[in-house]
This record gives sequence, C-alpha cells and structure tokens, in this order.
Amino acid sequence: MSKFYKIITYGCQMNIHDSEKIAGMLALRGYAETQDEALCDVIVFNTCCIRENAEDHAFGNIGALKQLKKRKPSLIIAVGGCMTQQQGEAEILREKFPFVDIVFGTHNLEAFGILLDRKLSTGKKVVEIKDSAGKIIEGVKPFRTSYPNAWVNIMQGCNNFCTYCIVPYVRGRERSRALINIFAEVNVLVKSGYKEITLLGQNVNSYGKDLGDGTDFATLIRKLSEITGDYRLRFMTNHPKDLTEELVKAVAENEHCCHQIHLPLQSGSDRILKLMNRHYTSEDYLEKVALIRKYMPDCAISTDLMIGFPTETEEDFLDTLRVCEKVGFSSAFTFVYSRRRGTPADKMEEQIPEDVKKDRIMRLVDFTNGQTRDFSVDYAGKVVTVLCEDFDKKKGLYMGRDEYGRMGYFSSERNVIGEFIDVKVTSVNGISLFGEIA
Ligand code: SF4
Repeated sequence: MSKFYKIITYGCQMNIHDSEKIAGMLALRGYAETQDEALCDVIVFNTCCIRENAEDHAFGNIGALKQLKKRKPSLIIAVGGCMTQQQGEAEILREKFPFVDIVFGTHNLEAFGILLDRKLSTGKKVVEIKDSAGKIIEGVKPFRTSYPNAWVNIMQGCNNFCTYCIVPYVRGRERSRALINIFAEVNVLVKSGYKEITLLGQNVNSYGKDLGDGTDFATLIRKLSEITGDYRLRFMTNHPKDLTEELVKAVAENEHCCHQIHLPLQSGSDRILKLMNRHYTSEDYLEKVALIRKYMPDCAISTDLMIGFPTETEEDFLDTLRVCEKVGFSSAFTFVYSRRRGTPADKMEEQIPEDVKKDRIMRLVDFTNGQTRDFSVDYAGKVVTVLCEDFDKKKGLYMGRDEYGRMGYFSSERNVIGEFIDVKVTSVNGISLFGEIA
C-alpha cells in the first residue's frame, strides 16, 4: 500500500533545500509526495524563525492539524527547522501541541529519517534538539523537485552575529563542506542534465575559512569552472565585508557564472550599519559595487533592505534611498525590522513605532519598484537567453530567467522546460518580460 507525505516549508532557499533532504529521507523509506493532507501518513513542518510572521504562520498551521490527527491517529506530525532550535520552543510545542509526534532541530536535520524510524518502531514521541552543530553530515540524497534548477549547500551556519538576526543562534557557527564533495555533487548534477546550479550558504563569501587549508570561495568558483557542460552557476547569499577582488575576478572568469550578484545592503546609514554590526559603511558598500562593475560592467546587483531598525531616523532612512539611487539595483527584497527574541537588537530601547515603519516601507517599496522597472525597460526589443523553468498555467506561457534574474514569459508549441531559449522581448511589466521565441 502506498504511503504519503507532505512537507510544509517556511522561509528561505536554505530551508527549501533542507526540505528536499527531508523528502529524500522519506522517499528512501517508500513515501510518495502528496498535497492532500487527508491522504498523508507523515506531515512535516520545516519551520523558520527569521521573521515573526513565518513563526506565527507555522504555529497556526500546526494547530489546524489537531482535528485531522484526531480522525487519523496513525498520522505522524513532525516539526523541525530553525523555530524548534530556539531556546524554550520545544517546550512550547510540547505544551501547546501535544499531538506533535516528532520535534527535531536544524543540527540533526540529516537524522530525520532515523527519528521517524524510532517513532514508528516505539510509538513514542520523539523530541531531539541538539545544542550544537557537529560536522556537516554528507550522503543525504535530496529529492529534487526543481529541475532544471538545483541547489547545493556549500556550508552551514554563520559567524557574523548581525544584531537583528537569529541565524547564528539557531544554525550554529560556520561549517564548510569539503571542496571535493561540492565538486562531485555539482559535477553529477550537471552530467545528469541540471542546467542551473545555485550554491547556498548564509554567507558564501566566507566559505572555507574554517577548513584551515587556504581554500576560499574564489578557489571553489575556479575549481567548479573545470566542470564542462551547458549550465549556469549562481550563488547566494553574499556579505559585502567578505566580497574580495579575487572572488569577483574568479566569478568574471568562470564562463558559467551568471552576471548577477545578490549583495545585501540592509541600510544606507553608517550609524545604523554599525548598530547592526554589519562591519561596512555605505562607502565600503559602494566600493564593492564598483569592484563588481569593474570586472562585470553588465552585472545585475540585487539586494536586501531593512527599514525600522531600532533608532532609525528619517535621515537614516533617506541615506538608504540615497545609496539605492547610487547603485541602481536590479531588484530588492524589502523588509520591515522584526524583533527576534534573544538578539541584541531586541534589547535596544528605542524601537520604531509601527506607523513610522509602515510609512517608510511603503516609500521604500515605491522607490525600489521604480528601479526595478527602470532596469526592465532596457530589455524592450532585445533578445535574451532564458532557461525555461516551468509552464505558467495561469498565463498559458512558458517561463524562464535570464542570467540577470529577470523572468521572461513566452509561448512555445513544444515543451521546452530545461532548455536555453532565445526570446525577443516584446513588452515589459515590472519585473516580468514578455516575448516570443527569436
Ligand atoms: S550574515 Fe548577518 S544577517 Fe546573514 S545570516 Fe549571518 S548574522 Fe544573519
């Protein structure tokens, strides 16, 4: 008889890839994926605590399964990810959601299969949160559902302790995978037909620092250039303080690397950047932008921006807009600062009132949307090469990104998913391009 699972994932790309690993462990045990919860034998919540709303959302969705569990007691409900790794969270889950069967953290995600086996053989609740992250466990085969794209973790954790961020507390310190293992994984993916590989880490620019053998991210990028084939290479996310000239050169010289770099600015105010513990000034940031453009003049630079950090004044906010103006971002992810328990920023007294935050985020979104549109306008009439990722049922069009990250939509008589297609852009709408096969 078939066994089914569903994984509900919150948060970032790292979490989405972690869910692929959980899916791999379930597939190995004979489970198939379904979106129909009533059919499920296992439902896993892979949670995120980086933003408050993701956490609230997860709690709401876990609570909503209470009735299903009553009707189907054999259903196994598991909760893992960053949220469970926070101090006291496992106890909250135990008290508020006693029907949850398995609780696991980020440090033992790779052991999820073993925890499931234990639950099935003993029938007892399993709660296992490890305090510290050990060595990276190799060999968990992800069940990939994102063809032609594939994500490859190159490291875990973060050493930076930005004062607003919970990640170093719940994901531990930086641990890099051996270069040889990353090379082997990327090589297999390319040889098996994946067309876009994204290297993942909280700060990929500090890859290798813990390996102690002189390997760094530039070394990795150069090594990967030995892998031949028709594919693209991306990486995220970067930290401006660690982006070196040697790395930018390595990226520019690797013909597979996309000319798109995501470089989180967060704030354009030096005072706020200092309070955030970001270790760069707005001037340093602009120098990194100049460095990228020196070697890749066409490079699209995208960013993360945060408003409403404690003590942020109108002038600080305007500094952010000024830096945005100078850079000309291809796109920006904009966030309202959200208090995270246990972080230094949470203890700062002068929190910004909600109405001020609301006003600033609206102005920021307006501004960055304008930049996004300006970047797109230049596309009109051009031929761009997109990697077709999927068919958009609503639009009735195929969709794919160009190397700068713009999504293009076009029609085709045949299925072209997984192919590089030249598209002539006939119209532009915000971040989206529309066109026809050239
Ligand atoms: S670099 Fe800063 S924001 Fe990014 S994960 Fe590390 S602590 Fe968090």
